[in-house]
Amino acid sequence: MGIDYEPESTGTIRTDVLIVGSGPIGAVYARKLVDAGHNVLMVDAGAQETEIPGDHKKNASEMTLNEFSSVIQNDLTPLSSSSSMPGAAATLAIGGMSTHWTCVTAAPHPTLEAPKLFPEAQWTPLLSEAQDLLNTNSTTYDTSTRQENLKNVLNASGHSFKSTPLACQKAEDGKIVYTSTSTILSPIFPSKNFTLLPLHLCTKLHKQNGAILSASITSFSTNTQISVIAKQYILAAGAVLTPQILHNSGMDNELPALGRYLTERMVGFCQVRLDKKFSTMGGEVNIMEGAREGKKWVTTINREAHQYGQLPEDVDGSDVLDVRCMSVVEPNVENRVKFGEKGSDGMPMPSFTVSPSNDDLKVAAKMMVEMQSLATTLGSFITEPTIMPLGTALHLSGTTRAGTSVENSVVDVNSKVWGVDNLYLGGCGVIAEGMACQPTLTAVGYALQSVERVKTALQSE
Ligand SMILES: Cc1cc2nc3c(=O)[nH]c(=O)nc-3n(C[C@H](O)[C@H](O)[C@H](O)COP(=O)(O)OP(=O)(O)OC[C@H]3O[C@@H](n4cnc5c(N)ncnc54)[C@H](O)[C@@H]3O)c2cc1C
Repeated sequence: MGIDYEPESTGTIRTDVLIVGSGPIGAVYARKLVDAGHNVLMVDAGAQETEIPGDHKKNASEMTLNEFSSVIQNDLTPLSSSSSMPGAAATLAIGGMSTHWTCVTAAPHPTLEAPKLFPEAQWTPLLSEAQDLLNTNSTTYDTSTRQENLKNVLNASGHSFKSTPLACQKAEDGKIVYTSTSTILSPIFPSKNFTLLPLHLCTKLHKQNGAILSASITSFSTNTQISVIAKQYILAAGAVLTPQILHNSGMDNELPALGRYLTERMVGFCQVRLDKKFSTMGGEVNIMEGAREGKKWVTTINREAHQYGQLPEDVDGSDVLDVRCMSVVEPNVENRVKFGEKGSDGMPMPSFTVSPSNDDLKVAAKMMVEMQSLATTLGSFITEPTIMPLGTALHLSGTTRAGTSVENSVVDVNSKVWGVDNLYLGGCGVIAEGMACQPTLTAVGYALQSVERVKTALQSE
């Protein structure tokens, strides 16, 4: 074990780097820092729920779509049911949301969605490394005649659908292995430089003279309080629970943008039974059309497990596809998460103040029209188009956004917290732009930039 681990006698652990959160972003930091020879302790409030720590649950056992949807539903802990973000939720487990995510890793549109903080020449290699780390490819279903046919028909009517980029690999036996925390950690796990502690909740950071001195951790496994003393600290606990730790550490006043600029896509959803001319062809379908000038949303056509959209068991789903649209929502300083009374885990509970702008609602209306039109081309509705409750996308961003000053952001271009020498934030919270496409790939890009700054700081000590 690459840390001084003696909590029984002193209650203190010393390490080079503490990472809070074992989702894919925490995993990227761990992988790169352990690869560089540093000692890393990763703590996660959740339990290890798969045999291989942080594995995608679809890899761990075969399940029907309905069964996997139930897994997702059970794994999501609602963050605040009585607020303007009823869909907001977290996954408390080793691997975080990567234990059940859908693995869509489309690149952000270079001018509409990509981070403006990075010049193109800096962003392109970060994006490319992020794609490699996540095993992104667009060929998973390319042998499917149904997918090819649907693309041809839709694109002949003016669309530009492509095979969806997915974070997964096809094994030799044809089985799809979905990328998760376990994939990212696999080269360093086990390793003498890396320790992963499940059921360890980080409650507070202690700061003095512009640096974090230690972190307070509650061990649910031993019912003890631990102090971790690290050289560098990384919080990658999700877009709501990362600000929660900073709030609980009394850092709101010095970080006025903390929890603000909360941005979440609006989701439009419907289900379509394919016309007979498509239903004779076999194969999976997973295609998407990105955002572009004049179209501020992405459209995905597939059948996937989500926390919503299950078909009744007696309905034959073999000819049914989900059509899902997600919009670009422009960041707004007034949209925010706040923290109030303490919950059962002793942490302040989040509540949300978010209202879509008129422009957001106009885009949502256009998504409804597009779903109607797509359904007419493809077949007929099983489930009519609807705009889902806010938060349903589970792609919250902006709450710890990166920027150019402490007035408009929480972290700098290296994801280092303004005014604190040794504290970095990872995850979708740092994404500053409104994006329609799925956020994890972009968050990995930010983390890869950040990790170089952490390495430099460790080397100079
Ligand atoms: C059903 C579903 C489908 C999705 N599909 C896609 C998709 O197709 N494409 C895409 O890009 N994104 C998708 N996402 C979102 C994606 O999963 C997240 O963007 C990604 O997991 C974020 O990674 P993260 O490491 O920042 O945070 P998380 O995965 O949320 O991990 C955060 C971890 O921090 C831990 N934690 C929280 N607070 C504390 C604390 N105080 N102390 C210790 N540990 C703590 C949690 O237990 C958790 O394990 C999907 C999400 C869901 C739920």
